[in-house]
Amino acid sequence: MGKGRSRAEARRASQAGQVSCTSPNARTARSLSPDASLTPITAPLASLDFLGAKEVISLASAGLHVAGDLLDWLPRRYEDRRRFDAFPAAPGGPAICVRGKVVDTRNRFGPRARFYEAVVEDTRSSGMGTATITCRWFNMPFLKNVIAAGQEVILHGKPKDFQGRIYIDHPDFEVIRDDGGPSIHLERIVPIYRNVSGIAQRRLREIQHQLLERIDPASLGSPYDVDPTYPRAEAFREVHFPEAIEQAEAARRRFALEEFFAVQLNVVWRRARIHDHKGRVQGTKTTLLKRFYESLPFDLTGAQKRSIKEIVADLRSPRPMNRLLQGDVGSGKTFVAMASMLLAIDSGAQAALMAPTQILAEQHYLTFKRWLEPLGVRVLLRTAAKEQSTHLPLDGEAQVLIGTHALLYDKVAFTDLGLVVIDEQHKFGVSQRSRLIDQGTMPDVLVMTATPIPRTLTMTIYGDLDVSILDERPAGRGKMVTALRTAAKQTDITKFVKEQLATGRQAYLVYPLVEESEALKAESATEAFEKWQKRLSGHSVGLVHGKLSPEEKEDVMRRFRDGEIHALVATTVIEVGVDVPNANLMIIHHAERFGLAQLHQLRGRIGRGEHKSYCILLTDGKSADAMEKLAVMEKTSDGFVIAEEDLRLRGPGDVLGTMQSGLGDLRFPDFLADTALLREARALADQVIAEDPSLAALHASLRSLIQENPVASSQRG
Ligand code: ADP
Ligand code: MG
Repeated sequence: MGKGRSRAEARRASQAGQVSCTSPNARTARSLSPDASLTPITAPLASLDFLGAKEVISLASAGLHVAGDLLDWLPRRYEDRRRFDAFPAAPGGPAICVRGKVVDTRNRFGPRARFYEAVVEDTRSSGMGTATITCRWFNMPFLKNVIAAGQEVILHGKPKDFQGRIYIDHPDFEVIRDDGGPSIHLERIVPIYRNVSGIAQRRLREIQHQLLERIDPASLGSPYDVDPTYPRAEAFREVHFPEAIEQAEAARRRFALEEFFAVQLNVVWRRARIHDHKGRVQGTKTTLLKRFYESLPFDLTGAQKRSIKEIVADLRSPRPMNRLLQGDVGSGKTFVAMASMLLAIDSGAQAALMAPTQILAEQHYLTFKRWLEPLGVRVLLRTAAKEQSTHLPLDGEAQVLIGTHALLYDKVAFTDLGLVVIDEQHKFGVSQRSRLIDQGTMPDVLVMTATPIPRTLTMTIYGDLDVSILDERPAGRGKMVTALRTAAKQTDITKFVKEQLATGRQAYLVYPLVEESEALKAESATEAFEKWQKRLSGHSVGLVHGKLSPEEKEDVMRRFRDGEIHALVATTVIEVGVDVPNANLMIIHHAERFGLAQLHQLRGRIGRGEHKSYCILLTDGKSADAMEKLAVMEKTSDGFVIAEEDLRLRGPGDVLGTMQSGLGDLRFPDFLADTALLREARALADQVIAEDPSLAALHASLRSLIQENPVASSQRG
């Protein structure tokens, strides 16, 4: 969910005033005979007698203020301390959890950093060749006060090899203390939490345990109980201190369902709000569309035809259209948009196209003019720059108006807006969309995105939209070759770039970072820029990255588009970019550092003209995972296949993160691949809205979950 409202806030709101749907009886019972010994979920942490004042401060700086915040601080993983792993004989493999004794510690100084080392010995082994693991913590000298020889510890981390020894860098660790009696720290499955600075793992676990014993179960209701058969109090106990891993999983599923329900409720709510409006019936006249088809030098692809058909049905229906057109770069979305706009225009309305940047708006303007003006359609570009709008006719005369998102805030631009096309949705927040829709007349809306996403994620992110998919590439493109290289020599690369530039083509030279970073050891774009200037002397080399101002970026991109710059050293800022059909070569350095979806997006910058194109992925070949990932790029150019692979390899959390979906706060992103759970959440939300469309009666408390003004997702680059 967006940052607008946290679960905790929603909960507080629902408990301050409204009756909880979960347990009205329990609530009444509590107010009749309050059990003073129990802690309500709203109790300030400062009021809990088992917390020290310093601890309360530490918790507050982690954003934990009331009892419920602590309960919501869920374990990030569990350790089964009924059995430990054996000390590894060799490095590599997954993370391990071992128990051993610290036999030596020291502060060390390396060339780049100082670090604290602890050698931990396997206490179960004996005699010759005792197994040890060395732990390293960089720049944390104070650890010498925490870890000392003689202690028994539990370590968790990935064993690595360094100069013939087995190391774990920055392991999770916990010092074992025997205070007699049964322990919540040993001989069971224990929760490991995200760190709260100032509070040790062990202490945090004790705090959670104590809180769970004190918490008033009657106060644990949520505004809507997604699973009455599984009380929340029980789920909280089982997620923090499970008897079996399956219990923790079931509890997480329950909480995930709650969370997805809130997302879907918003989605269904927005959809219902759109359908509250009466849309216009348009698109019955097809004269312009027929002339457009006749003017095209190519046939539309099957996918384009299918999408246009779906759009036509929406336009003709009295319900407002709210449709997403998904398709790879170059799949022909723009032509679908043009066809749709012609239908609106033929019905006497205006159509608008909004692009995320000025330069993209200009590019669309030229394309639209080229194809639509011969049909007698007036196309205008509306820009922020004054000098550009003065010599243009009045906007009111425009039939197609093209601009940036600023168009949204411009009420006078339109006299009769019938259709809005929004390009590049992932740069465009939900709130902007609703703003447009709130602007009075209810235009039909078509959103285009070039980021294919797996279908399960579509349901979450674009659940309030109907979806059309362009999964077919138009014919007549130059061939595209993608090659993965692990040991390419710089001289060979330079030679290849020069050859392509010599034939008049242009090249992108992509780097993962803007500035040099010691930690990442990857060459940065700024460093590389200087080198490329020398290597390609005689050619003009440009540099673009996210630290430039928008104007500077656009200026460089414009010069590249116009052919003044031959080779462009760039970071990922080019992934949503200008169409430069003459650019046919892309070299992606440190390709392993990019996500699959990102690589695909980057590669989409080339292969747009008739020339054969080359995408070269450079990597050191050291990581098997990275090689598996990069091989996908060599195998396929289908954005949907790549998106599914990306989801499989990275998991939904990371995929969502880079998509800037506005769902970054989801606590259970890992369940997003779980179609069944998503469908269940959707069905519950559908049911609630069907029973009580405005959430005014039956489910009034659920209004607290609705984000009226969701925060737009932040921009990337
Ligand atoms: P997108 O907006 O999806 O990136 P465009 O609509 O800009 O794609 O189309 C990319 C290129 O493909 C354009 O140069 C366009 O002229 C061409 N094109 C679009 N549709 C077809 C088609 N059906 N057959 C051949 N070329 C097409
Ligand atoms: Mg496009």
